Amino acid sequence: MLIVMKMDATPPQVERVVSTIEERGLKANPIPGAQRTAIGITGNLGVVEPAHFESLPGVLEVIPVSHPYKLVSREFQPDKTVVDVAGVKIGGPELVVIAGPCSVESYEQTLRIAKSVKAAGAQLLRGGAFKPRTSPYSFQGLGLEGLEILAKVREETGLPVVTEATDIDVLDQVAEYADMVQIGARNMQNYTLLRRAGRCGRPVFLKRGMHATITELLLAAEYLLDQGNRQVVLCERGIRTFADHTRNTLDVSAVPAVQRISHLPIVCDPSHASGKRHKVLPLARSAIAVGADGIMVEVHDQPDRALSDGPQAILPHEFETLMDQARVLAPMVDRSLGALV
Ligand code: PEP
Ligand code: MN
Repeated sequence: MLIVMKMDATPPQVERVVSTIEERGLKANPIPGAQRTAIGITGNLGVVEPAHFESLPGVLEVIPVSHPYKLVSREFQPDKTVVDVAGVKIGGPELVVIAGPCSVESYEQTLRIAKSVKAAGAQLLRGGAFKPRTSPYSFQGLGLEGLEILAKVREETGLPVVTEATDIDVLDQVAEYADMVQIGARNMQNYTLLRRAGRCGRPVFLKRGMHATITELLLAAEYLLDQGNRQVVLCERGIRTFADHTRNTLDVSAVPAVQRISHLPIVCDPSHASGKRHKVLPLARSAIAVGADGIMVEVHDQPDRALSDGPQAILPHEFETLMDQARVLAPMVDRSLGALV
C-alpha cells in the first residue's frame, strides 16, 4: 500500500503517518519526492485497511498495491484450476455446456429436457429444486422432491447435476444429491452460506451478484477456498446496468479480466443475463468467443408452461443449433467440444 501525502503536508504530519503505520507492526518506507512525499507500507501479511490512514491529516490518497484476495489469485497458484464434476472437467481444454430447465417441475419434464440436452451434447444438467424468487408468491421449487427427481434423472441419463442451495438450512441436503452445488447471484455475498459451501465436500458453482464487482466476486470465492474447497467455478450471469433493453447486461469483459487475475474457471450464463430467448444464442456465442470455460443455458420444451423463467428458455432445437455453432467456434479459441456419440 502506498500513502500519498498532500503537497503542503508538514513534516509532523508525515511523522504521524509513519508512527501510525509502525504502531500496527508494519514498516513505513517514506519516499520523499520533489513535490510531495509518499510512504510505502511493507511487512503486511494480509490486507491493510486504507481507512486506517485515509483520515490522517496531510494524507491525499491511499493506493492499494497488493490484491485483497490471495488463494484465488494467480500469484498464489499460476496454473489454472480444473474442477472435476463427477468426471466432467471444467477449466481444461474442453468447453463445458451446462443445460436444463430453470426449475425442476416434474420427473417427466426434467427427464425429457435432460434427454434432449444430452442428445445435443450437454455434459451437465442444471435445474433448481430450491428457487430464489423475487416474489414470495412465485413458484419456490419442489424442494426435496426436486432433488430426488434430479437424482433419478441423473441415473437415467448419466448427466451429473448442478443445483442451487438457497440457504444454510438446505445446503447439506443439496450437497447430498448434487454433483456441484450452485450459489446463486443473490447469495454471492451470503458469507455464512459461502463458509458452509466451502466445507460441503462438493464443487461449487458461484454466480456473480448482479451488483458485484470482479473484486467482490473473487473475495466471495476466497471464502470458499479459505474453508478448504478449491473446486470452485465462477459464473458471469449479467449485471445491473442502465440498459433497459435487457434483463441484465452480460459482462463478457469479466471473462478475460477474471482469467488474468485468477486461476479459477469462469462460465457465462446468457439466459439469466438476457432474460429473453432471442438473445441467448448470440450472447452464448460471444461467451465462447471471449474464452469462457463453459456456458450455462436454460432449456425448456414447453416454455409457455414453465413455472419460472419461461421467456428466456430456449427450445431443444435452438439448443441443438447452439451446440452446432459451439463446435465451430470452440476451436477458434483453442477449445474443443466433445463430438456427439
Ligand atoms: C439460476 O441459475 O437458477 C438462478 C436463479 O440464477 P441467478 O442466481 O444467476 O439469478
Ligand atoms: Mn432461471
